[in-house]
Amino acid sequence: MTRTVACLDGLDPDYLDAHPTPAWDRIADEGATGVCDGLVPSLTNVNNVGIVTGRRPEATGVTANTFLDDGERVYVEDARYLGCETALAAAADRGADVVALVCKEKLRRLVGAGGVAAASAQEPPDWLTDLAGEPPGIYSGAASAWLLAAAAAVAAERDPDVLYVSTTDVVPHKHAPGAAAAGEWVAALDEGLGRLHGVGPVVAVADHGMNRKRRRVDVEALLADAGVAAETVRCIRDRHVYHHQNLGGAAYVYADDPAAARAALADAPGAVVLSRETACERFRLDPDRVGDLLVLGDEQTVFGPIDGPERVDEVDLRSHGSVHERRVPYLASTGAALSASVEAFAAAGVGQ
Ligand SMILES: [Zn+2]
Repeated sequence: MTRTVACLDGLDPDYLDAHPTPAWDRIADEGATGVCDGLVPSLTNVNNVGIVTGRRPEATGVTANTFLDDGERVYVEDARYLGCETALAAAADRGADVVALVCKEKLRRLVGAGGVAAASAQEPPDWLTDLAGEPPGIYSGAASAWLLAAAAAVAAERDPDVLYVSTTDVVPHKHAPGAAAAGEWVAALDEGLGRLHGVGPVVAVADHGMNRKRRRVDVEALLADAGVAAETVRCIRDRHVYHHQNLGGAAYVYADDPAAARAALADAPGAVVLSRETACERFRLDPDRVGDLLVLGDEQTVFGPIDGPERVDEVDLRSHGSVHERRVPYLASTGAALSASVEAFAAAGVGQ
């Protein structure tokens, strides 16, 4: 029997309110559903690693998509940045057959650490395409449905003990709750969960929510204007700019004089500035993996460079990264699975 944990990328609770989810509701009737707090910065790799380890970022070391490692910008996209073993690797060590299916290679290298049979839709191995067919492009709206269908095929044919599947948030970045494309995506997630529930217990949870963003603040330029020597790292920044344009609601600022940097950002609209100490205490982050300051956006603010003299301008996009996208829905098909997941989430700092 396959036990499945599904991470539904970017499934803001609002999508479940806006669209019918018959399978979700049926599973919830015999198990449980609700909304809980994910990890901050509210990013895919931070929360996927939180889920597969059951630990907070202070233990996992995954606090962003990018950080400054001894002054050098690095992408957090392989297992060398993992500060602890994943529960998937521990299960594989005990002899369990553990499979992890994710969208992108960067996540495969993180959640697939250890003896896990891990594969991505980006570069699927033959054993996966033999079971599930060729995937659509990773930026297509159909990628999430393919991943869940692939997971169901793996469960039926290979019958692993543990199956982790993580979808992609390309649709919620582009389409608000209520939009037709959002409805198709939610229906596909729902159908996929229903199929997985047919082969064993299922726990599903989103990694982060999603909000419409109307304001962009150029933190880097504000610091330069004030003559503060600093480096700004947007936490969401990765190699995949298509769906979020590297604009998100969290940034780390590295500065020789953090007090001067804080003063330079004091009047920035829609920005809350936390010291490293406060950020690490509040969000249980690894102090070696965050900036001297953590800048968090309000519900409608993202951070990024602006061409021209403006330091603040209007945008219209959907993104995440701040505390305002930390509320996520969860679903568990059994009480036992739920208590295990709640324990894991409490350990990850996801509970209140
Ligand atoms: Zn995203």
